[in-house]
Amino acid sequence: MLTTPSLPQKERALQLAWARYLAYPNFEHFVEFSLAVNNCTDALTQQSQTGLHHVCRQLEQQALTLFGDESSHPVAKDIMCSLGEQIARLCELLRRYHDNEGEITEERRARQRPDDAPTALITHNAQQVFLVGEHGARQHELATQLGYFGISVYEGGWELPAPNPSGLGVYLLDVGEQPATRWLSTLQQLRERIPLAHIVCLGMPNEFVAMNQALQAGADHCMAQSASLQQILSQVLAHEETEEQESYRVLIIEDSRTAAHVINRALEERGTLTQVLYDPLQTLSVIRQFQPELILMDMYMPSCTGVEVARVIRQHDEFLSIPIVYLSAETHVGLQVEALRLGGDQFLTKPFNPVLVNAVVKSKIDRYRALRHSMQNDSLTGLLNHISSQQALAAALERLRDGESMAVAMLDIDHFKQVNDTHGHPVGDQVIRSLAWLLKQRLRRSDIIGRYGGEEFVVGLARARANNAEEILDRIRGDFSRIVFYGADGHPFRTSFSVGVAVCAEGASAKKELKGLLEAADGALYKAKRQGRNRVALARR
Ligand code: GH3
Ligand code: MG
Ligand code: MG
Ligand code: MG
Repeated sequence: MLTTPSLPQKERALQLAWARYLAYPNFEHFVEFSLAVNNCTDALTQQSQTGLHHVCRQLEQQALTLFGDESSHPVAKDIMCSLGEQIARLCELLRRYHDNEGEITEERRARQRPDDAPTALITHNAQQVFLVGEHGARQHELATQLGYFGISVYEGGWELPAPNPSGLGVYLLDVGEQPATRWLSTLQQLRERIPLAHIVCLGMPNEFVAMNQALQAGADHCMAQSASLQQILSQVLAHEETEEQESYRVLIIEDSRTAAHVINRALEERGTLTQVLYDPLQTLSVIRQFQPELILMDMYMPSCTGVEVARVIRQHDEFLSIPIVYLSAETHVGLQVEALRLGGDQFLTKPFNPVLVNAVVKSKIDRYRALRHSMQNDSLTGLLNHISSQQALAAALERLRDGESMAVAMLDIDHFKQVNDTHGHPVGDQVIRSLAWLLKQRLRRSDIIGRYGGEEFVVGLARARANNAEEILDRIRGDFSRIVFYGADGHPFRTSFSVGVAVCAEGASAKKELKGLLEAADGALYKAKRQGRNRVALARR
């Protein structure tokens, strides 16, 4: 998988771009510097590092107001100084962030190694979570629940916690019944003292003014009074899950080599993968082969117009949702409206601002990805849905080389109907989500995890891991059976799941037998159920 450059790489690019501008303060170098800042801001948003993001965004905003044209550079001395100071502050904060990030990544890697996974406890070397503000039963319950995922929570009341050395962490500020002045001042102090914190306001009045004030004062996220414990939990766990992002893929259809070069450079600078197509007649085959997530389309080309190309693209169901953005000197509104009606999504007029082009590309692709994600993933757990998991398993089998094997496991929660009947459906949902989260936490990114049906999951472990699939799953089974859940009435309970594992025979003939593998895993699952549940059974093949 090709991913965008890492944050440290982006930071180095920013420092380099600034040094170049200092040496040769012309417009072109300022454009590069602005792009580098924009790039860092995006990366920080994506990693939910909103504290850092605030600092970077301020720098970006200032850079954009200074954009101007050739004649506005170099900028005045005092502005140069102010930019330099902001960059120094940002880099210092980034350094602290990287130091800590490195540790977290190391720990995550260690956690994923099956031999290291302890059997008695779910370990989770997560970022620390601090509970600030109102202190009561609800907060205590939240801390308890997070504890089951191995996340330790520090409960400090209205006393501001001392910043931990890394300055990172998730801060949950429960505003409770307090007047706005009180929690706002706490929030401001928190943001000032711990600029890298990820701050979530809990128990917020569900109204515009209060939420806007909280966001302005530095909150990253607001959750209304009505938010359930489950929603809060999901918010914290989701923060844990931010992972590397795949590079954006953009196809540029443009007949002018100069224009294509300029656009290409602006996009590549932020790590976007691009392909340029000069001959629009090749569009369909290039889309199939390159699989772009967005198309930047020139309006006027010798063989046909951009609108014609867009119309042909839209005749294909599989390409219906790919965003198409026109790049054109066209300012005639009537023509623009017509072009949008015929299958385009947006207009950018030449000469374009590269920061703006990147911003449009980012927002369109993010939405495109979100749409695809909602089509392929289950909404309760975020895991692959039934069809997508089958597709992913089939593709993984297809990729196996001679001598490699793959394990497929079916998991089913034991006596789950009883959980629903005794504790209610919402608690049942929570159990399902917890199992999904545990699987995601324990298995590797390259493993396949799907929600196959109600309380049934499918897992695919390729290559080397197939050999110890039984062992890996049994360890997860053991840990899951130790998690304590709470019913709506506050009664603690535990639950378990059973697993059936089937490993495909080694060798080329093993390919294309997904159906047989799934049936074998299912058969083994029923054996595990018959033998008393809460166990792993291996299919004899
Ligand atoms: P066994 O150990 O044999 O698997 O028993 P079981 O009770 O788990 O199996 P059964 O198939 O009888 O019941 C599964 C239950 O799962 C029935 C259904 O209401 C519940 N269920 C399915 N999907 C969901 C869901 O999304 N949320 C909740 N809360 N319950 C669900
Ligand atoms: Mg042209
Ligand atoms: Mg069941
Ligand atoms: Mg079932």
